[in-house]
Amino acid sequence: MWARKTAPRKVNSPVLLTGLATCAKCGSGLILRTGKSGRYRYYTCSTQARKGKSVCKGQSLPMAELDDLISNVATEAIINREHCEGVLLELAERNDARDFEARRRSNELAREKSDADSAVARLYRMVETGMADLDDPEFVARFKRVKDERDIIAAKLDRLAVLKSERISVTPDQLNEFAEFLSARITTGPMTFRKSYLRAFIDEVRVDGDRIEIIPRFEAA
Ligand SMILES: [Zn+2]
Repeated sequence: MWARKTAPRKVNSPVLLTGLATCAKCGSGLILRTGKSGRYRYYTCSTQARKGKSVCKGQSLPMAELDDLISNVATEAIINREHCEGVLLELAERNDARDFEARRRSNELAREKSDADSAVARLYRMVETGMADLDDPEFVARFKRVKDERDIIAAKLDRLAVLKSERISVTPDQLNEFAEFLSARITTGPMTFRKSYLRAFIDEVRVDGDRIEIIPRFEAA
């Protein structure tokens, strides 16, 4: 029997810090390696993994440990009130755009409603002046149709008014709730969300033994 030198095992499941974590000694990326039957998962320098310890002494850190550390630091740094307020204000602005459309639609419906009201009033007048007879089934059907149309328009207007009253406003309570929601998603949410969120704020996680340096994507002004 002969043993083949095994390459680092390729793992398809998304890894939180690939592409972000680097080896401070050689600058190459950290990759996931797994130990005995996948029980141990750790980040290791890709140069060391490919070329051996003589090329780079490398890094080796339990994956869960580094993932937790970075998630927690990111949560504290990212989830501050200003950040949450910014996100929520953006949502409110989008809401304003929706409001503008609602106002336009509301004006349009108000015009339609006024036309429909006039049509109904006209038919009433026809009855009052004896020009139309409520015994005439054709007239009654027309009367009903015109009134139904007006009622539908009125119902649409009511619905718009309800939607308008459901507008978002940013209160301190909502801000706190939102901050909690975001930190939960960053630490335990779906991996794709966690990865993209970290990438939005962190440029690099430079690992040098016990020293871990987080380089933000942009410095706060
Ligand atoms: Zn290295």
